[in-house]
Amino acid sequence: MAVNVRYTRYLVLALVGMTFFYLVSRTNLRIPNSASFARPVQSYNEFKANKNEYPGANSTERVNATFVTLARNSDLWDMVKSIRTVEDRFNREYNYDWVFLNDKEFDDEFKKLTTALVSGTTHYGLIPKEHWSYPEWIDEDKASEARAEMERKKIIYGGSESYRHMCRYESGFFFRHPLMMNYEYYWRVEPSIELFCDVRADPFRFMKENDKKYSFVISLYEYEATIPTLWDSVKKFMTNHPEHIAEDNAMEFISDNGGETYNKCHFWSNFEIGSLEWLRSKQYIDYFESLDQDGGFFYERWGDAPVHSIAAATMLRKDQIQFFHDIAYYHVPFTHCPNDEQTRLDLACSCKPKENFDWRDYSCTNKWFKVNHLSKPDGWD
Ligand code: GDP
Ligand code: MN
Repeated sequence: MAVNVRYTRYLVLALVGMTFFYLVSRTNLRIPNSASFARPVQSYNEFKANKNEYPGANSTERVNATFVTLARNSDLWDMVKSIRTVEDRFNREYNYDWVFLNDKEFDDEFKKLTTALVSGTTHYGLIPKEHWSYPEWIDEDKASEARAEMERKKIIYGGSESYRHMCRYESGFFFRHPLMMNYEYYWRVEPSIELFCDVRADPFRFMKENDKKYSFVISLYEYEATIPTLWDSVKKFMTNHPEHIAEDNAMEFISDNGGETYNKCHFWSNFEIGSLEWLRSKQYIDYFESLDQDGGFFYERWGDAPVHSIAAATMLRKDQIQFFHDIAYYHVPFTHCPNDEQTRLDLACSCKPKENFDWRDYSCTNKWFKVNHLSKPDGWD
């Protein structure tokens, strides 16, 4: 009996010890890497050359970052596809968290399946009513008439009320949901997207090390009918807040005449890797609130893509915006596929280079290259 008691005591001690070390090692992973990095700015290619292998989830190089998805319960099966592709091409090696946000409660089936597929920790958030409803200064009858009119004109999502709440939420609120407040960077993922190449070097870490705040893979022209007064609203903001406008910004990407008019170029925001701290900054919040007051999210159909893009192109330095060549991506109906064969082989890509959208007429990426004095990469057509 005495022997038994002593034995149990050691066993308990050993278990406590093991649990302690396990927890410490887990916590290490979760501690945001807040060290400041030495900053010779690298291109993603240089960055990749040093880190062409997955450092893996045990790496202390992890950044305080999360995937984020806004979705309905009915998006479950399309979301499953997106998670699977993101995990297979990247996250199974890194185990970053994933935050799901919804204007209704997620049901158990949604939570069960997505948690099973995501290698990191999953979080499910309900959007507060104030962030998904009409602000008091909006005339709801006027908004409803505007929807009817846009529906008659067959403008895409022109008649949809929920789509407008969605665009306003993505423009001004997702980054300040309580579940997002602890993270520094986000990667937005929508249902039914595809990644066609391995993402071996961690883009979050690249963003952080090189002081990037916003990124894109596809850019294009917005439908004029959805944003007739957006640029007036932006100009009003710029006049009222000259202190928020960056020197060496990317205004040339969004305006062909020094800011007089908007050329409708925008980064396609269904893919985004960006800085949450930038979106939570006074400059961005002042910008969003100024636009929101003007009512175009409801009286027109302002998309979060032009809203984010104009913010990035006016309030960031242009070298803080990153074009990720070799994150090969699909969201209906456009594909971004590296045309460079060696890249496709190295990264085990499965996309057809002929389907690359970057240099088509409707793309703005050629303009991005021009603004940045970059020449078209070899093999790109
Ligand atoms: P599109 O890409 O512009 O055609 O728009 P989507 O239908 O893909 O919507 C954009 C994002 O918002 C996706 O992640 C959707 O899952 C999400 N979304 C759209 N409408 C709603 C909605 O009413 N409620 C919620 N919770 N999510 C929505
Ligand atoms: Mn979509």
